[in-house]
Amino acid sequence: MAKKKLFSRPMIGVDLGATKIYTLLVDERGNALAESKMNACGEQGGDAVLKRIASSIDNVMTQSGAGKKDIGGVGLGVPSPVDLKTGTALFSPNLGWRNFPVKARLEKQLKMRVRVDNDVNLGTLGEFTLGAGRGTRNIAGFFVGTGIGGGVIVDGKIIHGKNNTGGELGHTIILADGPLCGCGNRGCLEATASRIAITRDLQAAMSNGIPTLLNNLLAHDTDRIKSSILKKAYKDGDELVRAILDRAAWHIGIAVANITNSIGPDIVVIGGGLFEALGQQLIPIVRRSAMLHFFGPAGKDMPIALAELGDAAVALGAAVNAAARIS
Ligand SMILES: [Zn+2]
Repeated sequence: MAKKKLFSRPMIGVDLGATKIYTLLVDERGNALAESKMNACGEQGGDAVLKRIASSIDNVMTQSGAGKKDIGGVGLGVPSPVDLKTGTALFSPNLGWRNFPVKARLEKQLKMRVRVDNDVNLGTLGEFTLGAGRGTRNIAGFFVGTGIGGGVIVDGKIIHGKNNTGGELGHTIILADGPLCGCGNRGCLEATASRIAITRDLQAAMSNGIPTLLNNLLAHDTDRIKSSILKKAYKDGDELVRAILDRAAWHIGIAVANITNSIGPDIVVIGGGLFEALGQQLIPIVRRSAMLHFFGPAGKDMPIALAELGDAAVALGAAVNAAARIS
């Protein structure tokens, strides 16, 4: 089935991560026509990062033969809460940004209009428009990676909240007085179910001598445990890995129930590297836990689905977001 037309002209979406820039030029239906990947080089400062973004935009326009006048708009996702009125990135520890006026500076460089939002909000918008949430009005998204990002869309609009921190589902409290989170609180979902939390729990168990296939799979480096390694150990029946990942999925299920009990979405979408690797195994556990924690009929007939867009979700959502302002 042909995708419906979303934009009147091709759009550009940029995903600025902590370490990488991923840029897509998409046609009127959201199909990628050109892409560019480069390192963000955040340590060189904000203006250097913006220069690299500008050159990634040049790249995709050159590849597709488009000029500035052919492009409907540029959207950018940043790993930070964003003041939407000014397009200022408020706080991004990974990039060392605080109150950085990313929209104004990038527009000056590009001489094109730019719309900026938080990266995970845009990942959720991407899934809502072009991925697992197509055809719905209300969606909550969880993206499980190093941390856990979240996004909430109600009646087709991203929820930003009074202080631009709406949709931070990774920092809902799952375990009162639980493990310390990077945000300073205790017991956040991110502190119990993210890759950082999973690695912490695996390392603690391994240093207590609990047997696991990871001892062979990881050689001596236990600091970075890749999803592919976890997948192999999980599928081979490693009891430690299964117990820790199943518990993480169980906690994500509690967070799914919490947001469902709060806003009653049409669908909850879960993505990120861990679920790309082990979604088939973990989603049923998320579902079982959520079912146990829904308020009455809150979760009746509500799908809990794997994200579909993978690494392209944020850039696609950024393109969609840029168009929303123009139409
Ligand atoms: Zn937190």
